[in-house]
Amino acid sequence: MATIQWFPGHMAKARNQVQEKLKQVDFVLEIVDARTPEASRNPMMNEIIGAKPRIMVLNKQDLADPEKTKQWVTYYQGLGYEAIAIDAQHAKRLNQIPTLGKRLMAAKITKQKSRGIRNPAIRAMCIGIPNVGKSTILNRLIKKNVAVTGNRPGVTKNQQWLKADETLQLLDTPGILWPKFDDDLIGKKLALTGAIADSVYSEDVVGMYGLQFFREHYQEAFRRAYGLNAQDLALSDGDLMIHLSQKNGFADNYNRMAERIIFDARQGKFGRFTLEVPGDDANDADAE
Ligand code: GDP
Repeated sequence: MATIQWFPGHMAKARNQVQEKLKQVDFVLEIVDARTPEASRNPMMNEIIGAKPRIMVLNKQDLADPEKTKQWVTYYQGLGYEAIAIDAQHAKRLNQIPTLGKRLMAAKITKQKSRGIRNPAIRAMCIGIPNVGKSTILNRLIKKNVAVTGNRPGVTKNQQWLKADETLQLLDTPGILWPKFDDDLIGKKLALTGAIADSVYSEDVVGMYGLQFFREHYQEAFRRAYGLNAQDLALSDGDLMIHLSQKNGFADNYNRMAERIIFDARQGKFGRFTLEVPGDDANDADAE
């Protein structure tokens, strides 16, 4: 279904760039979309990050289902990561990131202080697929405290370190790490949330996925949004699409109804939603 080709060469290059820069940081901020915490990851993310300490940042929590976000935070903590849900757009809970980072790096900070270093530095890199909110997070965290140029050993000359505060310094991700959008289900999730361009997936497929998902998982919100009754809800998915299409004045132009469902989902017409829960079979970001 996806029309974008997966070029192993590009992937390897991005991965090498990231791994090279990772050597310069103490830990990673792995940014994901709270609505699709696993679908919005690069398939090799765990391999790339390796044993570096990590904070899983579930961004866009304002759009996600709060109950499911809690489940994801617990899930990632269970894997041994720090995890936090934030809303970078509205600057909610962002200031928890430096706090968590200092907790994660407490041993290093103590060691530096014991050596007489008055302002110990800890360094992190933001990693994530496009659109999860990396730039928004960085810009808000650094509040224009830009640029500490590193010209000390082990630090590339002219490396731009972005200062979040006196202790935490940040690096932007050097390359583009793509999601696994050659996987149908992942592609549909990313398309529905607007994480990948609409041109990549056909709206009838994504709209039908939305219809199926919302009627199953957020039925009350879906019913209310489209004024459906019990009889309507007894229809098959296909018949419900036809019914909705007619009801909304699109006659037999089902693609327009599919587009409408996608639009409405993104606008929050069915409320806050999360498309996957921990333990779903299709979620394993490291599955090949
Ligand atoms: P990047 O490609 O990872 O750097 O992502 P951007 O920072 O450019 O963000 C992608 C889009 O998501 C932009 O339109 C942002 O305004 C939006 N965005 C970022 N963070 C949030 C958030 O927490 N909530 C919501 N609702 N939108 C966000």
